[in-house]
Amino acid sequence: MLTGLQVAVLGGDARQLEIIRKLTELDAKVYLVGFDQLEQSFAGAVKEKLEELPFNELDVIVLPVAGLQSTGEVETVFSPHHLRLTKDMLARTPDHCVVFTGISPTALTKLAEQTGKKLIRLLDRDDVAIYNSIPTAEGAVMMAIQHTDFTIHGSTVAVLGMGRVGMSVARTFDSLGANVKLGARRSEHLARAIEMGLTPFSIDELPKEAESLDIIINTIPSLVITAQAIAKMKPHTLIIDLASKPGGTDFQFAKKRGIKSILALGLPGIVAPKTAGQILAGVITDLLKDIDMMKGD
Ligand code: NAP
Repeated sequence: MLTGLQVAVLGGDARQLEIIRKLTELDAKVYLVGFDQLEQSFAGAVKEKLEELPFNELDVIVLPVAGLQSTGEVETVFSPHHLRLTKDMLARTPDHCVVFTGISPTALTKLAEQTGKKLIRLLDRDDVAIYNSIPTAEGAVMMAIQHTDFTIHGSTVAVLGMGRVGMSVARTFDSLGANVKLGARRSEHLARAIEMGLTPFSIDELPKEAESLDIIINTIPSLVITAQAIAKMKPHTLIIDLASKPGGTDFQFAKKRGIKSILALGLPGIVAPKTAGQILAGVITDLLKDIDMMKGD
């Protein structure tokens, strides 16, 4: 239980609702800021204005997955008002107060450094990345279905990258009957592809493979789908780029050649916000049990 723990949830989207649900179930006292238009209510949670939060009593602040926007504001899907978390507000929280975020843009990292606050970047964690790879792979299937006029079954699909997302995507498309080719640079990744019954190729060889591909799903956050590779693709080839901005595709060249290429970001929050929220809620509450103990020291 998290009885006595005071948590402020600042802004965010539907994923935050699962976090709020779990925190209140575990008896934490939860302040909701930026949820004015949320009709649903949670026992143990109160709506509050940012300026009126009892910062000096907060044990935890939960920010949206994106942390702070480039403007320094907190995104609020359930409120027309944007929030601005200031250095002064954060400095008023107790020393043990921790801040949860999905990722940490520069503005947030700077704010945490200036105030000596511990930032927990949830998306950096292996467990979260692996759990999140499940809705991401399902989102890639959705994109493939929406943007092609042929079945995944029987098509040749290249998955680029054999990390947490790449492995799940490759397995998912393989199980749907695609002929999956796996492009990576490390020999152990190529070996893993063979073990999984896939066809491995060195990522440098993509231009040679390109002609045989119906769909390419990239998870490598580096320019790997080059103009040289795109020039060899068949007109119907679909590129689904999952890698974080700016992706790993020469989008301009793809457009010029008439190859459909999509930078598909934030799929877990789009295709399965409830599951994506539950993933975050589970990890946050597990970590908070330790923080609660630290507080008692
Ligand atoms: P990861 O586990 O770190 O995997 C990244 C893979 O890229 C690794 O296999 C890595 O191989 C490879 N790689 C990196 N740079 C490379 C290069 N220059 N050439 C060849 N291979 C290279 O990351 P992940 O968790 O799978 O996430 C992959 C990307 O997807 C990230 O950008 C992440 O932000 C994004 N993502 C997107 C969504 C979405 O909804 N679109 C959801 C989750 C994650 P090495 O081991 O050889 O470096």
